[in-house]
Amino acid sequence: MQVLAIVGAYLYPADFDMTSKPTATSFTFPHRHLLGIEGLSAEDITGLLDLSEEFVVLNREVEKKRATLRGRTQINLFFEASTRTQSSFELAGKRLGADVMNMSVSTSSVKKGETLIDTAATLNAMHPDVLIVRHSASGAVELLARKIDCSVVNAGDGAHEHPTQALLDALTIRRNKGRIEGLTVAICGDILHSRVARSNILLLHRLGAQVRVVGPSTLLPRDIDRFGVDVHRDMKSGLDGVDIVMMLRLQRERMNGSFVPSVKEYFHYWGLDEAKLRYAKPDALVMHPGPMNRGVEIDSAVADGAQSLIREQVEMGVAVRMAVLDALSRNLPNA
Ligand code: ASP
Repeated sequence: MQVLAIVGAYLYPADFDMTSKPTATSFTFPHRHLLGIEGLSAEDITGLLDLSEEFVVLNREVEKKRATLRGRTQINLFFEASTRTQSSFELAGKRLGADVMNMSVSTSSVKKGETLIDTAATLNAMHPDVLIVRHSASGAVELLARKIDCSVVNAGDGAHEHPTQALLDALTIRRNKGRIEGLTVAICGDILHSRVARSNILLLHRLGAQVRVVGPSTLLPRDIDRFGVDVHRDMKSGLDGVDIVMMLRLQRERMNGSFVPSVKEYFHYWGLDEAKLRYAKPDALVMHPGPMNRGVEIDSAVADGAQSLIREQVEMGVAVRMAVLDALSRNLPNA
């Protein structure tokens, strides 16, 4: 390996890459925070997706580092458990050169009764540049954003929004279908408690897709008519001729009561198996944001089958989160 020695320190070619390769996509993201898909224009979304493509390429290289966030501090504040989202935000921040700190709520003073506002004030005093927040209450992330000086990214707030999930889903769809406009997407299962469903409906509409929601009446929001989607209460009509089948997890942690008769019955009527997938177009693709409950909302043969994009969604998650951090960093003070 080519190594340069400068006053006792070693600089590798990759260290030079960190400063010499800014991203090529030059678009201005006119927002200080990313709190939801609501409030983003089609141009904002397309700009983020185009930028994500650069990070897909970078992430497949041996050297994955950029200096975009060098010297910056990113705090991941997760009040709800997360596997994919938290780890991919951590990786995204590190690959862009930030110092990333994960604040575990079980060890923080929130467990001891500190209010969200106190937490915001405490964090503010640490001068972070970006705060990534997940919270069980809808609106909590926006509240924090109003009380803190840095950029805030919503990593999921209650049943409200999960914007980076919708962006990574859109990137996955666009890469496989070549477009979003004109596609028919069926979002199936627990729509009522799903922030993924809400963010996806907003984004897919903004980019010109047709959206159907498919699920039992108990798992559909009462005001579903306001969402501008086609509502189906059975999988046969709901999946008929669709391009994309997006399955959702039963969000039991948000259910206070019994919303489905039994898991066995739920799978029988609403679980995606090979037989139900045949109602969709022959080249339809299957998605799931994870974590999956195999045998509840999706059968393993479909989840691991040739039409599944589920693994690719995880890969796109890192790229999209890098794009979001990169885009927001352009608006940071002294950027
Ligand atoms: N991971 C997604 C979320 O945080 C979906 C899920 O949990 O089912 O909303």
